[in-house]
Amino acid sequence: MNAQQSAQNLLNFIDASPSPWHVVKTLETQLALFQFERLYETEIWTLKTGGRYYVVRGDSSIIVFVHGEKTVAETGFKIIGAHTDSPSLRIKPNPTNTAAGLERLNVEIYGGAIIATFADRELSLAGRVSYQTEEGELAQSLVHFAQPLLRLPNLAIHLNRNVNEDGLKFQKQNELALILANVTEQLPISQFSTLLKSQLPNDTTQILAWDLNVFDTQKGSLWGANNEFFADSQIDNLASCHAAIHALLDESVLKNDSTLVCAFFDHEEVGSESHCGASGSFLTDTLQRISDATSQNSQDFARALARSFIISADMAHAYHPNFPNAYDAQHTVHVNQGVVIKVNVNQRYTSDGVSEAMFMRWCEQANVKYQMYSHRNDLPCGSTIGATVSTKLGVRSVDVGNPMWAMHSCRESAGVFDHSAMIEVMKRFLTD
Ligand code: ZN
Repeated sequence: MNAQQSAQNLLNFIDASPSPWHVVKTLETQLALFQFERLYETEIWTLKTGGRYYVVRGDSSIIVFVHGEKTVAETGFKIIGAHTDSPSLRIKPNPTNTAAGLERLNVEIYGGAIIATFADRELSLAGRVSYQTEEGELAQSLVHFAQPLLRLPNLAIHLNRNVNEDGLKFQKQNELALILANVTEQLPISQFSTLLKSQLPNDTTQILAWDLNVFDTQKGSLWGANNEFFADSQIDNLASCHAAIHALLDESVLKNDSTLVCAFFDHEEVGSESHCGASGSFLTDTLQRISDATSQNSQDFARALARSFIISADMAHAYHPNFPNAYDAQHTVHVNQGVVIKVNVNQRYTSDGVSEAMFMRWCEQANVKYQMYSHRNDLPCGSTIGATVSTKLGVRSVDVGNPMWAMHSCRESAGVFDHSAMIEVMKRFLTD
C-alpha cells in the first residue's frame, strides 16, 4: 500500500467512525476479519498462546491484544496507547428549543474544540441511545445520520462588522444552538425524537437518554498539488489509533513472542477521568488478567510490567509558516518530514532521554525520519494519555505523534507520508 492509499484508508476509517462509540464498532468489524475474539470483563478468561483478543469498556474504549508465544513475565507487554474521542459538540438532556419557527438543538461543548470551525458546515448526529423495549428491558443502540441534519450559520458580516478584526466568536451559552428543522403546522412535533426513533429497533417504547456527538458530514480528502496532505475531522487522534491497529494487524507483527497491546481510550479530551478513561482501571485490570490467566506466580505481573514499554501516540503541532511566533523556533516540526517525539520535562509528555533514544533507534531501523518537539516555555503545554497510563502502571513510556495543522478544528489536516512512517515505526517497535 503506498502512502496515499494508506492515508485514504485512514480517511475511510474516520468517516465510518463519527463518534467514539462508532470508533469501537469500526475497530470490532476490522478485528473480526482477523479472527479476534471478544472477551467480556464479566467472564473468566482462558487465553491461548498466540490468541487474538479484545475487550471493550463503556462502549467507547477498547483494548486489543495478541497473546505472545512466550509468557508476559519473560517479554513484558508492548503497548501502544491512543484516544478515541475528539473535541466536539454534544446534545444536552433537554434536547430542543423552538425560536422563530425553528427547532434547534441545545448543545454542550465537549473538550477544547475550536468552536467557530463548526459554523457553516453540514453537521449531523451520531452516537449511542438508551431506550426501553416492549418487554420493559433497557437497551442501547448506535445511531448515525449520514445526511446533513444540523447547521450553525454565521452572522452576516453586515451584522457583525468587526468580525475580521475581532475574530469569529460564539457566545457559548446563547449562540451555539444548532438549527434542525422548520416548525410548521403540519410538523409541530419534535423532529429530534422522530429522527432518533427512525434508527432504533421497532420494539422501542421509550427513548430514555443518549450520548450524541455532532459531527461534520464532509468526507475526508487528500489535498495539495501532489495529494501529499489529507484533511478530515477527528485526525486527532484517530490517525494514531489507525496507525497502531494497522501496525498490529500486519502479518509480520501478529506472530510474536511478546504480548502486543493497543489501548484506545475515550475521554482524553476531557482529562481521562472516567470508568473507561485512561485514568481508570481498564488497562491495569486487563494486563493483570492477561498475566493471571497464564501464570500461577503472583510476582509475574510486576515482572511483566518491569519489562514493558508504552508508546503514547497522539498528534503534534506542525509548524504553520503564517504564525511563526506560536512556536519555539528551535523545536518546530514539519508536515511530511517525519514522526515527532514530544518532550516536556514537566512530564506533560512522558518521554525521557532513555525512551527517546529507544524510539529514535526504532525509527532508524524502520528507515523513518523523526523530529523533536518542545513547546514554547511561555505557553501551557497540552498533555495526553501517556502521563496517566505510565504513572498508573509504572511503565517507561515515550510520547510521539504526527505533525498536524489546526488541532481541534472541525476540519484538521496532516501529511500522508508521516502517516505511513508512523505505521512503519510502530511495526518495528512491536517486532523488536
Ligand atoms: Zn489528542
